[in-house]
Amino acid sequence: MSALDGLYQELILDHSKRPIGKGELDAPEGALTASHHEYNPSCGDEIDLSIAVDPATGLVEGLAWEGQGCSISMASASILSQLLREEKLSVDEAQERVDAFREMIQSRGEIEPDEELLGDAVALQGVSKFVMRIKCAMLGWVALEADLKQVATQRG
Ligand code: ZN
Repeated sequence: MSALDGLYQELILDHSKRPIGKGELDAPEGALTASHHEYNPSCGDEIDLSIAVDPATGLVEGLAWEGQGCSISMASASILSQLLREEKLSVDEAQERVDAFREMIQSRGEIEPDEELLGDAVALQGVSKFVMRIKCAMLGWVALEADLKQVATQRG
């Protein structure tokens, strides 16, 4: 294991121990909200992830989740939450991050992930070499994607 891998392992462990975004959604008055339950039968991971979007600006104003599962699934959901809390993203920008994450995680380590788009999520790049764990890493992102679609439908 390289020093860099060790650093990434630590980051993942840290996020799984002290998850960001875990709890109830605190949606601002008048916000559009969406919630999605996602289950990964191959590992038993599950998550309920909710978002709140300002109908006027289209920005994701809030994100929260509840879930249980392996450390990769929980760390990935936590990192995703951090990403969307650090900077207010539009629905389209959030979808762009989901796409970038999926591309990285399905690349089997062959593409260089965009750290500007993915932040700490690049730490999960190593997961792409383990086919069985890809669904674990994708869990929260798939739920977010479903929420974004729900909101897009509500906005019309
Ligand atoms: Zn898992």
